[in-house]
Amino acid sequence: MPKLLLWDIDGTIISSGGCGEASLRLAVRDFFGCDDDFKDIEIAGRTDTRIARQLLRKCGREETVEAIDALLGRYLHHLPQLLPQRKGVLLPGVADVLDVLARRDDVVLALLTGNLAAGAELKLSHYGVWHYFRFGAYADDHFDRNELGPVAMKRAREKGYEFAPRDVWVLGDTPHDIACARAFGAKALAVATGAFPSAQLAQHKPDALFENMVDTAGVVSVLAGEVD
Ligand SMILES: [Mg+2]
Repeated sequence: MPKLLLWDIDGTIISSGGCGEASLRLAVRDFFGCDDDFKDIEIAGRTDTRIARQLLRKCGREETVEAIDALLGRYLHHLPQLLPQRKGVLLPGVADVLDVLARRDDVVLALLTGNLAAGAELKLSHYGVWHYFRFGAYADDHFDRNELGPVAMKRAREKGYEFAPRDVWVLGDTPHDIACARAFGAKALAVATGAFPSAQLAQHKPDALFENMVDTAGVVSVLAGEVD
């Protein structure tokens, strides 16, 4: 059966060299007129819209759509300027895995990410891999990552694809990605190239767990359904 592969971005495809958080810090300075220590603000595995809501709440501001848009607008202003300045990387093995998967006709590559759509395109274009992905579910669609699976399934149907949840993989680097897969009955592939070591990811029982994506054949055969 064909598979739909929904990729997280930060910690899974790329490390932006702290670019996302640095852009957010500048956005906070622009919007609130002061710095924030980001203590108590959870970032890894969370959507940008959820992070914006957390920051507004922490600073005693109302979480209105207008305030969220304004804060994240400043983030999107700074992101393209910081991307070339930071020493980010495509994570080990990812380029080969994407290349091999893209040449198969039994998998569809798409995004399920906490990034805003515009932020996702900026980051992945910078690292030369944006063209691999047919569509995405983004922070613009919902602030709760667990709501993004159904959004991705809807986008797939709009593109003419029909997938059962058991033929969908969510790829990510945090327990939130695993929870997101569980929320709509998809499978979870966890990779320990982000904020969480493999032992910690293993506690959340992903269907597959890799230290990184260097084993191209191993990762591809799991995702294409050649092994259970
Ligand atoms: Mg991530």
